[in-house]
Amino acid sequence: MFEIHVSAEFEAAHRLAGYEGKCSRLHGHSWIVEAAVTGKKLDQLGMLVDFKVVKGRLRELLEALDHQFLNELAPFSDNYNPTAEHLAEYIYNEMSKAEFFNDNVKLKHIQVWESPKSSVIYTLD
Ligand SMILES: [Zn+2]
Repeated sequence: MFEIHVSAEFEAAHRLAGYEGKCSRLHGHSWIVEAAVTGKKLDQLGMLVDFKVVKGRLRELLEALDHQFLNELAPFSDNYNPTAEHLAEYIYNEMSKAEFFNDNVKLKHIQVWESPKSSVIYTLD
């Protein structure tokens, strides 16, 4: 089994509705997002999937979030705060639609860091 990791970053603001504390106020993070892709079989070149292709899709998704106020974007709302957890779930669901996933190449998880010491992993398991 092979597992490749690709990461990219974006800058965005959010606030956590209903939170008791300073995270209820508008603030920003330099978010880092990592996609982990697994599979057993390599192609003729010896690749599971080209890093460049995975990174391209991830960057496309993050481009839509970059320099945004996340609370104002679908699917986020006061009932679905743009926490690191919800961002990881959202990015996982969007990323999993990429055309390079198949019976062999699968999205294992999305990891989102909202700071160098705080991250969350979303996986279907
Ligand atoms: Zn925050």
